[in-house]
Amino acid sequence: MKLTGMERPVDVLGRVVIPREIRKRLQIEDGKDSFDIFFEDDSIILRKHQEKCSLCGNEGELVDYKGRMICRNCIEDLKNL
Ligand SMILES: [Zn+2]
Repeated sequence: MKLTGMERPVDVLGRVVIPREIRKRLQIEDGKDSFDIFFEDDSIILRKHQEKCSLCGNEGELVDYKGRMICRNCIEDLKNL
């Protein structure tokens, strides 16, 4: 984990603004992207949410099949059943 030296206040609704420099570096699109939130001991970890394959958890190229995201590998596996 890398300390940025940046500090941001928590507002009265519990919100924290992620500095623009970090959003830009991580290619986070305002109003579009979301985060998965983790905590460990006294730390909060935010990770940019990535769609995952419903069958294997792969974050690679995904296809929407009846509202579920499925990766190409699983599609090929299913074809061979
Ligand atoms: Zn898969």
